[in-house]
Amino acid sequence: MRERVVVLGPPGAGKGTQCKLLAAARGLLHLSTGDLLRAEVDAESSLGQQVKAVVARGDLVSDDLVLAIVRNRLAIHREGWLLDGFPRNSTQAAMLDDLLADLGQPLRVALQLQVPEEELVARLLGRGRCDDSEVVVRRRLQIYARETEPINAHYQARELLKCVDGLGSVEDVATRIGNSLDEREHGEETIC
Ligand code: AMP
Repeated sequence: MRERVVVLGPPGAGKGTQCKLLAAARGLLHLSTGDLLRAEVDAESSLGQQVKAVVARGDLVSDDLVLAIVRNRLAIHREGWLLDGFPRNSTQAAMLDDLLADLGQPLRVALQLQVPEEELVARLLGRGRCDDSEVVVRRRLQIYARETEPINAHYQARELLKCVDGLGSVEDVATRIGNSLDEREHGEETIC
């Protein structure tokens, strides 16, 4: 069965690292809206110039703009995929439901990586990305709590939400994620 997975979790939870491993292991497309936006900023494209200041502040760029990026890619990629960093608020979650209904690609799982806040701050400050200064890190975590965390309920209500402990080595977390996805395929799902 083809995996179509939304990977949720706060900044610093390890979504990017785990998505890369999972995509390589299972032959899935890894679609990271943050990576795509940063690439546009680095390339100094017109889109990049529009979003540069917003990304640097840690704010969210417009829903329509991000949806366009996701739609363009999913429309041409009909196999399995992992969405990393999207949806980020309830409007985007509703937009994604409509898009997937249009494309006939139902979501299989929304996977929530769970990491305590103090560990997130330490990880984010340690990784040295341009949008990871302390002020911006705190802002991104606040925006996560206010805008993104509430969408867990959206997926829980659809019985799609699965929670995975994101603490420990990269390999241990990857094993937990793999087990969690396989459990669902075998019908032994554990909803969080
Ligand atoms: P990320 O790498 O997912 O943490 O994203 C880095 C930055 O890109 C975020 O702080 C936002 O400025 C922007 N971004 C990424 N994904 C989205 C999204 N789905 N909606 C709005 N802004 C986003």
